[in-house]
Amino acid sequence: MTEEERFARQVRRAKQLIARTVLAALACLAVGCGALAVQNTRLSGEIRAQQAQLAQAQRQAEEARGALAAQPAATPSPTPYAGQAAGEYQAQYPELYVQAQAPAQPAEKTVYLTFDDGPSGNTQALLDILDKYGAKATFFVVGTQLPGRESLLAQMVGRGHAVGVHSYSHQYSQIYDSVDAFLQDMQQVSDAVQQACGQKPALLRFPGGSINGYSRPIYQALIAEVCRRGYSYFDWNVSAEDAVNISRTRQQIAAAVVQGVQGHDFSVVLLHDSDRRETTVRAVEDILEELTQQGYRFEALDGTVPAITFAYEA
Ligand code: ZN
Repeated sequence: MTEEERFARQVRRAKQLIARTVLAALACLAVGCGALAVQNTRLSGEIRAQQAQLAQAQRQAEEARGALAAQPAATPSPTPYAGQAAGEYQAQYPELYVQAQAPAQPAEKTVYLTFDDGPSGNTQALLDILDKYGAKATFFVVGTQLPGRESLLAQMVGRGHAVGVHSYSHQYSQIYDSVDAFLQDMQQVSDAVQQACGQKPALLRFPGGSINGYSRPIYQALIAEVCRRGYSYFDWNVSAEDAVNISRTRQQIAAAVVQGVQGHDFSVVLLHDSDRRETTVRAVEDILEELTQQGYRFEALDGTVPAITFAYEA
C-alpha cells in the first residue's frame, strides 16, 4: 500500500467516524425530543385538570356565598363559631342594642353591691334589708328563675335598684359555645326582664366573669360585640366569696366585703341571690351596718360607672 493509498484510507475512516457520530447525535436528539414531548403532554394534562378543579371550587364558593346572602338576617345560624364568617352574628338580634353612656367617675367610698343568679326565695328579704339602710344595689338575673317571680323585678325597679342580665339558661357550655349562642341566650333573658319590669336592661354580668374557662376561645369577639351593642358589662373588684363554699359563715362573708372595699376608690362587689344563700342575706345586713358607719354609700350600677373588668386588671 502506497503512502497515498494509506492516507486516503485514513481520510475515509475519519469521514465514517464523523458520519456515525453525527448520526448518533441526531438519534439521541430525536429520542430526547420525543421524551420531552411525552412529558410536556402529561404536564399539560395535569394543568388542565387542576384548572378544571379550580373552576369547580370557585363555582362552589360562589354558590355558598349566594346561599348565605339569601339567608334572612334574623335567622340564628346553626353553624359553630369556628366555621362562621367573621361578624356574621353582628346582623343578628337587631333588638339587642342599647344606647351607651359616657363614663363618669363615681364619688369616693361608693360601693356597688351586685347580686347574681336571682331572683330567688331570698330576694324579698334582701330588698327589705337594702331599704332599711337606704341602700341601692344591682341584680343580675337569670331567666329560668323568673317565672312566678316577675313581681320581684318590678319591686327592684320600683325601689331604685338596677336590673341587669346574667343569662337565661346559665349553662356555661351552651352559652359560650359561640358568640351567636351567647347573643341568642342574652336576647331571651333581655326579653324576659323587659316583660317582667317594663325596662330594657342595659347592664350585663357574664356568668363566670368576662374571661373564664368556657369563654376563653371566644371572649374577645364576644366582649367586642356586646360593647358594640351598647351594653355595659361588669366584673368585680371585691368578692364576698359566698359561692365558693356553702359553709362560709355570715361573719366570713361580711369580713370579705368589709375588708375588700378598703383601698378602692369605688367597689363592685360580687354576691349571690339564690335559694341556698340565706347566709348571704344575713351577711348583707352586717356589711350595710359596718360600711355605712365607715362613711360608704351604696348605689346601683348604671352605664356611666367606669367598667370594672378582668381585662383591665390583668
Ligand atoms: Zn351566675
